[in-house]
Amino acid sequence: MSSYVALARKYRPQDFSQLVGQDILVKILKNAIIKDKLHHAFILTGIRGVGKTTSARIIAKAINCLDENSASSAISCNKCENCISIANSNNQDVIEFDAASKTGVDDIRDIINSIAYSPVNSRYKIYIIDEVHMLSNNAFNALLKTLEEPPANVKFIFATTEIKKVPITILSRCMRFNLRRLDQSEIINHLKNILEKEGFNFDNSALELVAKLSEGSVRDSLSITDQILAANNYQSKISTQEIVTSLGLNNNIDIINLLKSLFEGDVGKSLDIFNEFYSKSSDIMGLMKDLMSITHDIALLNIDKNYKIDALSSQEIAIINQISNEIDISIINRMWQMLQKNINDLNNFFSGKIFFEMLIIRICHLKSLPNLQQLLLNDKLEENKVACQNNNIKNDRVTSSNTDSDDLVNEILRNFEGSKLII
Ligand SMILES: [Zn+2]
Repeated sequence: MSSYVALARKYRPQDFSQLVGQDILVKILKNAIIKDKLHHAFILTGIRGVGKTTSARIIAKAINCLDENSASSAISCNKCENCISIANSNNQDVIEFDAASKTGVDDIRDIINSIAYSPVNSRYKIYIIDEVHMLSNNAFNALLKTLEEPPANVKFIFATTEIKKVPITILSRCMRFNLRRLDQSEIINHLKNILEKEGFNFDNSALELVAKLSEGSVRDSLSITDQILAANNYQSKISTQEIVTSLGLNNNIDIINLLKSLFEGDVGKSLDIFNEFYSKSSDIMGLMKDLMSITHDIALLNIDKNYKIDALSSQEIAIINQISNEIDISIINRMWQMLQKNINDLNNFFSGKIFFEMLIIRICHLKSLPNLQQLLLNDKLEENKVACQNNNIKNDRVTSSNTDSDDLVNEILRNFEGSKLII
């Protein structure tokens, strides 16, 4: 019986030719390796799952591959002793160090002491330090001395998700590569190729959904795909609905209908839809994120009728279109503001359900308020001026032009949100 290897592992890029979407890094490093002008220290930065550690191993293989052709092509053979042991993280000349678990100066001192010894079976001794930003200040200082004058046969490859936490003294001694997030079409193409090879068939909207969920990370896209395949017993054809069910995603149509009734200011209906949702899922943070994501779609659609919404069904898109046609952008902005203002507080509250129900009531109450923009420009101007003065909102802003009135409405909302004062 053959054992199944996770896609993310099976399709982990093994050399520069397989590294997807990081063309600049590939071009610069290949040239440097071929011309034997490789810098002594690199720092690779980017979000999780864009291939930082994978790239570090690819570089290590390219410079330490024992096959004589690799030096002229910068492509490792992936067959020699060094290539195989580097891929398995057990090569004695390629030392991988996780700064997330070893942060202290003593940990880094072990590395520094070992630098004095020549590589055993390779051209270079290579130190790969993952999550390098986690090192303590003392550890960075100890490392700095070595980085200033490294032995000729030593290379450092640092990886980090938080480049801003790495001291400038370290950064200035490294060649820096920003590994970029892949865009949706690149992830889709990559997935399509792999799934074809594996004999699976996802429909287009299913691929779009996986790409969207992976947020530009190739590894995440493959891990999510693995989870979907396992949940569906490795059946050959997978639909969007099966993905929604197998990943326990919130049902888009419920969320869109909830948003619609919030825009309509219908408290009773909104609470009913929410309670129905809550009986199936307690992921209120996910619900807030989905509401924001759909509000974002509605806003862009309101501005540009040709805006393309990804990974939703035609029925869902039809409702979103309808909302976008009927609602003014200022109301959409208010919705965004309410969600964005409250999303961070959700986790700090003792009950997500109570928090969200009160949010529904407040959002619907906002809808019942008169259109502030109009209000500010009509005969109630004087009353509002008084209200604004009382709350230190500058008087001259009230009488200013239309463009400024948007800012003013937002300012009033920030100060008076849900308050009777603005009526
Ligand atoms: Zn090799």
